[in-house]
Amino acid sequence: MFLKGKSALVTGSTSGIGLAYARVLAGAGAHMMLNGFGDADAIETIRAELAEASGGEALYDAVDMSKPDQIAAMVARAHAAWGGPDIVINNAGIQHVCPIEEFPPEKWDAIIAINLSSAFHVMRAAVPHMKARGWGRIISTASAHSLVASPNKSAYVAAKHGIAGLTKTVALETATHGITVNAISPGYVWTPLVENQIPDTMKARNLTREQVIEDVLLHAQPTKEFVTPEQVAALALFLCRDEAASITGANLSMDGGWTA
Ligand code: NAD
Repeated sequence: MFLKGKSALVTGSTSGIGLAYARVLAGAGAHMMLNGFGDADAIETIRAELAEASGGEALYDAVDMSKPDQIAAMVARAHAAWGGPDIVINNAGIQHVCPIEEFPPEKWDAIIAINLSSAFHVMRAAVPHMKARGWGRIISTASAHSLVASPNKSAYVAAKHGIAGLTKTVALETATHGITVNAISPGYVWTPLVENQIPDTMKARNLTREQVIEDVLLHAQPTKEFVTPEQVAALALFLCRDEAASITGANLSMDGGWTA
């Protein structure tokens, strides 16, 4: 329970990797601000589970991460409840797979807003509170696509490269304030985000579902295994420890050797 008395805000924590982050942070005692879309009853079950696990409180905010004023209000809500937030994880994300000449401009705008700009707005609102407390942990879920590209993912690859640059810049700005800023770059993790892109990848590359899984997703990773949400969350939890205080400005790969 080394995060007892601290508070954490995880965007996109109703599913997949974000939910795994929320579980480990609550398990270490942090008050939790949950965010993301989904079935109201299922989210309430998660909120109650996390409150109990933390021995503290868990709140849920349904803010759409493409709306900057709502993002600032969510950070203010966490601050009003517990001070901080001491830990923020920028994790909300969407994907669209499509060749550049057919890529809908509104999908480009949505991916840049949710996968990249939202992290800027969260950091902008949270950093003053972290500086005031002299401690903070900012983690963003980037991707192997922050380092290498894949065809038909122009907006996603651009957004994730942007997260890598934003991470390095804010790390330098906050380094003397007890704040670390890092990105985690997973390879493929079997979540709804990955499962939902299979039909478009089949279409764009004229492949069967099995070929997409074996020849595109697993082929990218020398281990031939999906990364798990729990592995990603364990690395994030380590970054919250005092022993990780010298890790800042890093983009940590967890991709089964993909980018090696
Ligand atoms: P997921 O679909 O399971 O989770 C995405 C989360 O973001 C959900 O909670 C969803 O409700 C939320 N979300 C989406 N749009 C939102 C919006 N406008 N406002 C608020 N919340 C919104 O997918 P995941 O794979 O767990 O993805 C989480 C993060 O991990 C994303 O940033 C993704 O790019 C990144 N990532 C995923 C993989 C992978 O293979 N799954 C690999 C590398 C990086």
